[in-house]
Parts: sequence; structure tokens; C-alpha cells
Amino acid sequence: MPESQHKGGKSFRGIPVSTGVCRGKILVLDRPRPGIARRQMADKDLAEEVNRLEKALVQTRQQILEVQRRVSQGMGANEGSIFDAHLLVLEDRTLLDEVVRVIQEQKVNAEHAFHTVAERYAATLSAIEDEYLRERAADMRDVTTRVLNNLLGLEEGADLRHLKEPCIVVSHDLTPSNTAQLDKRNVLGFATDVGSKTSHTAIMARSLRIPAIVGLKDASGQLATGQYALLDGHNGVLVVNPTDQTLFEYGQLILRQATLQQRLRDLLLEPAVTLDGHRVLLNANIEQAADAEQVKANGAEGVGLFRTEYLFLNRERLPGEEQQYQAYREAAAALKPLPVVIRTLDLGGDKFLAHMQMPTELNPFLGWRAIRISLQERDIFRAQLRAILRASAEGNLRMMYPMISGLDELKQANALLEQYKAELRQENIPFDEHLEVGAMIETPSAAIVADSLAKHVRFFSIGTNDLIQYSLAVDRLNEKIAHLYEPTHPAIVRLIKTTVDAAHKHKVRVSVCGEMAGDPVLAPLLLGLGVDELSAAPSLVPSLKFLIRRLKLSEAQELAAFALDCESAAEILARCQELAREIAPSLFDNK
Ligand code: PEP
Ligand code: MG
Repeated sequence: MPESQHKGGKSFRGIPVSTGVCRGKILVLDRPRPGIARRQMADKDLAEEVNRLEKALVQTRQQILEVQRRVSQGMGANEGSIFDAHLLVLEDRTLLDEVVRVIQEQKVNAEHAFHTVAERYAATLSAIEDEYLRERAADMRDVTTRVLNNLLGLEEGADLRHLKEPCIVVSHDLTPSNTAQLDKRNVLGFATDVGSKTSHTAIMARSLRIPAIVGLKDASGQLATGQYALLDGHNGVLVVNPTDQTLFEYGQLILRQATLQQRLRDLLLEPAVTLDGHRVLLNANIEQAADAEQVKANGAEGVGLFRTEYLFLNRERLPGEEQQYQAYREAAAALKPLPVVIRTLDLGGDKFLAHMQMPTELNPFLGWRAIRISLQERDIFRAQLRAILRASAEGNLRMMYPMISGLDELKQANALLEQYKAELRQENIPFDEHLEVGAMIETPSAAIVADSLAKHVRFFSIGTNDLIQYSLAVDRLNEKIAHLYEPTHPAIVRLIKTTVDAAHKHKVRVSVCGEMAGDPVLAPLLLGLGVDELSAAPSLVPSLKFLIRRLKLSEAQELAAFALDCESAAEILARCQELAREIAPSLFDNK
């Protein structure tokens, strides 16, 4: 993004990934490493090169384990587990065998061989139009840098643990290892040339609550250490040498944000109830048992979606029944008596396992995914359902199936569940006989036949992320058509309404657990359409509660009536914005 004038100061615009505003001196970290020299080796020295490589790999492994230990202790198991992916790179035999082959066949030094092979892998991954795989390329580059440093006998990069003074860290890229080491007391914020909203670095910044911007293109090349800047993590702007006027305006914004945060904290133990007395259940989405802390810390009333596939990713082997049982039981026990909805495996689409042979498909989102895999891979499904059933003995678990597209699938899944229940009874293993089972409504077909599905479940959970992509035929990961991904499209509004009506006719509750539920602009529309519960990322729960407590259900219903009658996604969105801004202006006050 070209630099521009911003309220008198020179400014750079990027993608905001972690909210908050900070100001201070810039510290520009090193540019990317220059090329690695290629040295021709004599035959007799090749064994030593392979030996050096093996040693560097062992040393790197130790360093990563040490960083992982520190991060897990300081930030939690979730952040620490990011390094599992790094350790896997070091154990990738295909990659390492190829490096050894290059050393031996081309008779070259270990660093050159390693750099060439690893860079080729990373380049292939980053060229794929898939955010998840692009992140794997970042992991690979992070590990590669460590291995090369060890081979070259270099110190690790800038020591972010011991910064002399508070600063805004600016860098071409910040690897997860770098970010993990950030000395929070002295890092005010950070800004990088590359990156995306879902990169690990961005996720960590949010969990550390450090304001951050990524995608600033060549900011690191244009800025110098020691310059003074202001970083606005709400709007993705980095202002260099801000004027007094800019500083004053941002000072006001910081004060307003602090007041809002305090007001949100004051509501922590309050229920989400509208001004006209309608009670809404506000739940949180989690990815592992350790996230239970965040659920409570943000005042959520339970877990509306536990995405279990994260237990399966970044691992060498599939987790068995026992391992899964421990994870589900831990989440249930940590949150008791709050309900926890476990979703069965949703692999495929954009989530793949390194260790499971998954076919390459032309349309993975329309292919072998979620419940379709579970119904075919019976051993995997059986282990998961038995683990969930066993953990249900805690008394507060529920479960649901992802991506149901019709009645047969739901009946098959339920029949298997009954079969595994019978097994457990035979084995005298306790489980909750009243375990509630639900179906996710993520496909247009499921919404249309919701009336039939409702007879076989206790609740629905609408996965709007997928429902939108499947109904509008818009790939949810494709940036080129992102403008067509419209949650307020009349088709979506009507499908949600069809689902809610069918559910309520059969006394089935309806939750929404896609990103739409966490957006304060869109939540009133969902409530007006009759949705009973919302489930969103834990950090979004306080703002949702704040908004709901200022909303009247009657206003939300009027909004829904308008939307059901309207033919334009843009007009529906405008009405949603108007209402949200009117009732809770402080939630949108970040300019
Ligand atoms: C959804 O599709 O809205 C959903 C919650 O599931 P996921 O985002 O995991 O596909
Ligand atoms: Mg989904």
C-alpha cells in the first residue's frame, strides 16, 4: 500500500489484526537473510556435511522445545501447540532425505542443500490459494531460519525478550518463534510487511492483546529504528511522526476505548437480556479444552461449538478414543454446569491431516468432508463417538454433526450413535443417557429440509460460514470474490428463517455459531429471525452482551421483517448497521 498523508503525519495502511492503539519509538528488525553460499565439497567431506546437518537438526529441536515450554507456561497450551507444527517439519523424512540426497549427489555444503530444498517446499506451499497451507509455508521458513543459523553458527535473531526500552516492532515478517518471545512489557505493538488475519502471528498478537498490523507491504524498508510512530490496530494505520493534532485525537480514542472495556467488564456476570426482557444464550466457540478459561473470563454461558478437528491437526497420529475422551472430559469438567457442545470431526475442505491419506479433490469443500468422512471411516467415528459418550458422564455435554446435507445422513449418524451406546452399556461404561444431539445447518439442502431433520434432533446450530458459501456459491477462502460473500443476502435471511420456523414447530432450539453470530451489526438480525442462542469467539462475547442489553427484541423483529421483505443485501446491511450504531454507538467508535 503506498504511503499517504494521514492527519499531517506520513502513514502506512495495512490489515488490522489486533485492536488497540500505541505510540512510541520504532525498532526495525533485520531484513530477510541474504543468499546462502554454495560450496563444492570433496567426496571425503560429504559424510561430515550430513553429520553437521543432523547436529543442527537436533540443536534446532532442542531450541524449539525450549521456546514451546516457555510459551506454554507464559501464554497457555494453545499458543505452545503452534510449535508442534515446527517440530513436525524437523521430522519430515521426505524433506530431510532429499536434503541428504542433494548433499551427496551435488556434492555441496549442508546449508546450501537445506536452504534450497526447504525454500522449494515453502514456495510450493505459499503459491497454493489456501490460507492454511500458506501458513505451513511460514512455519517451514521459521524452522529453516533456525536450522540455518545453527549450521552457520549464528546467534538467534534479535532477542525480543530483552528490549532496552518500549518500542513498536516493525519487521518484514515476524515468525511465530519471534512473536512468542516478545517481551510484552517493552513491545508496544508490532507491524509487518506481510501476513494475514489468520496467520499464527496475528492470532498470538490477539491473545497477547498487543495492537498489531500486518500486510504493510514495504514499510520495514522505508522506516528506521528510532523514528517515532503511532500504531492504530483498529484501523490498520501506522502514522510516522504524528502531528500534535493526531496524537490528541488518538489520546481521546484511547480514553474512550478504556472506558468501553471497563463497561464491558462490569457486565461480566450479567445475563444477555434485551430491554424488553428476552433472554438470549451467549456461548463461545473453542478449539481445545484449555480454551475453557477464556470462556469463563469473557462471561460466556457455555460452549456452543467445540471444533474437535484441531485435536487431530498438527499431530503425527490420529488421537485415539482415550486421548479424545480426556480432552472432552477436561472441557466438560472445567465448565460444569455450563453446557459444552462438541462437534464431531469436520475434516476436509480446508482442514487436512498430514498423516491421513486424503484424496486431492477439485472441489474439496464439495467433496469428502465432515460427516461424509465420519460415516465412511467408521473406526475414526466410533472412537470419537465413544469418547464423547464416555465424557458425557460429566453431565453437561451435548454433541452435533457438521455438514449434514439430508435426512439419511442424520439417521445413519444417529443409528451409529445408538450402536455405540449399546456397546458401552454392555461394557458397563457410564454415559449420559439423555445426551442431547444436534445437527449443524450449513448446507442449503439442510435448511430446506429442516422440517424433517428437526424430528431427529434436540437442537440446530446454523454454521453461517458454510451456509453462506454453499448457498451463494462463493468460496469462503477466495479473496477475489470476497465481495460476493454477503451474510445479509436475502437468500441467507430466508434460509435462516426457514430453519428457525421448522425448528420451533418441533420445539427444537436454534443457535448460530458461524462468524455472523459474533458480529454486533448482524446479531440483532439473527435474534429478530428467532434464533435462540449465539456462539462466537470468546473475545467477542462481551461486546455482544453489551449490545443485546441495549436492544429491544421488538426492534430486532422489525429489522428481520424488513429483511425478509427486502430484495437487496446492501439495503439489509445498511439497516443492520443503522440499528447497531444507534443502540450501541460506543462499540463502533474506533476512528
Ligand atoms: C460454520 O460453517 O459456520 C462453522 C461454524 O463451521 P466452520 O467454520 O468450522 O466450518
Ligand atoms: Mg462449517
